[in-house]
Amino acid sequence: MIFPGSCEHGGVGEQMRTNREMNAMAFSFHTEHDAERGTHVMRPVPQADFAIIGGSSTFSIDFPEALGRDDTAVLARDLVFETPYGTSPPFKLAAVDGKRFLTVKMHGWRPPHVSRADASKQVFWVLREAGVVRIYVEGGVGSVNRLLELRDLIIPDDYIDYSMRQDVSLGGPFLLIMRDPICPTGTKHLAEAARRRLVGTGRHVFTRGVYLNTDGRHFESRAEVQAFRWMGADVIGQSIVPEVYLAREIGACYSGIYMIVNYAEGVIRDWEHRDLADIFYNEAETIGHILLDALKASPAEPVGCACRTLRKETLLQNKRFDPDTL
Ligand SMILES: [Zn+2]
Repeated sequence: MIFPGSCEHGGVGEQMRTNREMNAMAFSFHTEHDAERGTHVMRPVPQADFAIIGGSSTFSIDFPEALGRDDTAVLARDLVFETPYGTSPPFKLAAVDGKRFLTVKMHGWRPPHVSRADASKQVFWVLREAGVVRIYVEGGVGSVNRLLELRDLIIPDDYIDYSMRQDVSLGGPFLLIMRDPICPTGTKHLAEAARRRLVGTGRHVFTRGVYLNTDGRHFESRAEVQAFRWMGADVIGQSIVPEVYLAREIGACYSGIYMIVNYAEGVIRDWEHRDLADIFYNEAETIGHILLDALKASPAEPVGCACRTLRKETLLQNKRFDPDTL
C-alpha cells in the first residue's frame, strides 16, 4: 500500500504556517497494520467540522495554497485512508481563520475502475470518521433554464436524480428524508460570499433552482435536454447525487455552488469548447475564494436549518421501534 507524503508528521505545509496558532493545529498520525482487513490503514482520520469537495472549477489549481491567503493554512496533505470501499483519494487538512476542514478533489483523480459511487462512499466514509458536520461543494453544470448565462453561479435548492446508481449508502440504519436537501444556512453563506466576489462583473448568483443529475461521462442529447426541461430542471450536472444522500446519512449540512460552463444541447446556442476551457482554467481562484469566504463565515452548528433532523431511525430492523426516538 502506498501512502504518499510523510506518514510520521502529516506532510505539514511549512510555507503555509502563518503563526503559532497554526503550528499548534498540526497533528501527527501513523499507519497501523489492520489484521482484519489485511492491510495498512492511516490513523487517525483527523477531526474537522467542515469539508470542501472540489469539482471542475477548482481542479486546475492547487487548492487552497494557490490562493495565497493569509488566513488559510494547510496542516497536512496527501492523506490517504483505507476505507471499506477501497483506498480513498488524497485529502488535505487545512484551516481558514482557525476553522479546520478536509478537502478533496473529486474530478480527475479517479482511475477508470473506481466508480463514482465507490469514490463518493470512500470520501463520505472519511468525512464521517472525521466528524464533519458541514460540507461545501462546487462544480460545473450545463444550463437548461434559458435565463442562465455562462459563468453565472447557482446554488440549487432541490434536485432530480436521473442517475442509474442504486443503493449508494454507507449502510447506516437510517431513513433519509430528502425534504429540503440543501442547507439554507450554507446557501446563505455561499451566496453572500459569491455576490461579494462578483461585484461589478454583471454575473448572477441564484439561490434557487433544480439540479438534474445524470451519470455522464457524456453530455446529454437535445431530446434528453428537452425532456429534462419539461421535468423542471434548471441545470444538469453529475455530482450532486449520490453526495446529497451521503451527506444526509452522515448527518451533515450540504450546500453546493455551481458555475454554468455550457448551455445544454438545444438551449440558446451550441456551446463552444473554447468557452468551456476558458472557464475551466480562469475561474478557479474566484470559486476557491468563495468557498473559503463562505466557510469562514459559517457555523459548525445547524443554525437556521433542519438538515440534521431529517435523518430518522429506520423502521426496517429486527428490534422493537421506540416512537419516542422520532
Ligand atoms: Zn443545515
